[in-house]
Amino acid sequence: DKGLMWFRRDLRSEDNAALHHALKVCRQVWCVFVFDTDILDTLPRADRRVEFIRESLVELDADLRSLGHASGVENVGLIVLHDQARRAIPALAQRLQVQAVFTNHDDDPAALARDAQVFGYLAHAGILLHSHKDHVIFERRELLTQAGHPFGVFTPYKNAWLKQLEPFHLKAYPVARYAGALAPVPPEWVVPVPRLSDLDFETTNLAQLPVPTGASGARQLLTDFLQRIDRYDQARDFPAVKGPSYLSVHLRFGTLSVRQAASVAHAMHLQGIAGASTWLSELIWRDFYHQILANFPHVVDKAFKPEYDHIKFEHGKHAKELFAAWCEGHTGYPLVDAAMAQINQTGYMHNRLRMVVASFLVKDLGLDWRWGERYFAEHLIDYDLAANNGGWQWASSSGCDAQPWFRIFNPVTQSERFDPQGKFIRRYLPQLTHLPDACIHAPWQARELELAAAGLELGKTYPRPVVDHAEARERTLLRYAVVKKVP
Ligand code: FAD
Repeated sequence: DKGLMWFRRDLRSEDNAALHHALKVCRQVWCVFVFDTDILDTLPRADRRVEFIRESLVELDADLRSLGHASGVENVGLIVLHDQARRAIPALAQRLQVQAVFTNHDDDPAALARDAQVFGYLAHAGILLHSHKDHVIFERRELLTQAGHPFGVFTPYKNAWLKQLEPFHLKAYPVARYAGALAPVPPEWVVPVPRLSDLDFETTNLAQLPVPTGASGARQLLTDFLQRIDRYDQARDFPAVKGPSYLSVHLRFGTLSVRQAASVAHAMHLQGIAGASTWLSELIWRDFYHQILANFPHVVDKAFKPEYDHIKFEHGKHAKELFAAWCEGHTGYPLVDAAMAQINQTGYMHNRLRMVVASFLVKDLGLDWRWGERYFAEHLIDYDLAANNGGWQWASSSGCDAQPWFRIFNPVTQSERFDPQGKFIRRYLPQLTHLPDACIHAPWQARELELAAAGLELGKTYPRPVVDHAEARERTLLRYAVVKKVP
């Protein structure tokens, strides 16, 4: 009759599956979040995600407190620990003498391994671990092909998703009405949420970015997006335009419930609003990649399609130099460089640009997709193993339902199509501001006079292209030809 709610990627108090179940079945429930040193130790000291989490926990703590208060329980709050979660959770559960720990599924292989350990320690102490689906609408093996296999192709997956969807899947898990079971935090654990410096982290530029934190930040962005969701299908591919929702970080850390997002989108989809249908599809892609990771965990470091592991990517000194140019946004291709400036300065990158820079890394620079994947993992504030791996394997053609290997994005054409006036490029590459629109996509094709008039000196104030696209394309077609030969 006593329970412990362990928050991880579900940092909200409303519509939270595990919290709902814990409060419903237990007489007293404590809530905990662990800044897990097993994870924190691997991160750079300035990391926007740690700051995002920290700020969101301050709000979660306050939300729990007021939920308790409204139900007549004082001194409710979030216990925040800074420790190894796999040891700290069983230890706390024992100290609080709970019978069960409640949590929501996290299907990242590292999280599953951690949870298996926690399960073992808890079982040893006679404590149960209850885990719930919360992060996606359909998970694991809930949707299968007629032959009973997990889906590897998106469109039939999406059709099955829409067909199998019942109102139940989108229903919120109410919390407030059960909040009387929230238990006062014992005095020894009543401490404020640690500051970044307590965690040995530095403040980032998060507060200067348009990234509001916590469940209130998610509400704010969702409200804003719903006013333009009907135009999403037309606007979403143009990085200079406020087209997408910018909710990815909230879906990542669960400050937004995916059920809430999907239920609004689904209702509008049924009304025939094209933008909402397209957006719902993106949420279905998110579920799709989560079930791929859960069912095919080899994708973490191997190609989904094994024949693609025979491809030989560039390596050695020159490859490392090309990689550094890509990371720093010094490739000489303005759209690629502006996109890399966006991720480096803000931790976010527009979806179209993620596809462009990923394709450029693999198919223009000839580098291993895992290098790019790792860079994104370190820099994206919305980094999510399932979606990121899915996106990279899509771009490198090694994934399920990926871009065919012989389809190679032309970075100049992409730039002309999706940033026609170079608005996005100029926002991130001010040195190109004065170039005429006609040469902003490929400055090396500009005439000397035009460059001079724009105050630009190629090779000095802006790099010359590090590779020639046409040549790179030929090399890639040869490199990828091995996939045809593998039986
Ligand atoms: P919106 O367009 O408003 O989409 C709504 C939501 O749908 C997103 O927040 C996201 O949760 C989901 N979504 C959209 N597109 C995809 C997709 N292709 N796959 C899975 N989910 C999707 N998304 C991440 O959340 N984390 C990542 O680490 C990540 N890495 C990527 C790497 C590459 C190479 C590529 C091509 C895509 C990656 N994506 C990733 C998917 C997509 O680019 C982002 O979800 C999107 O740009 C986030 O912006 P938004 O919230 O404004 O998106």
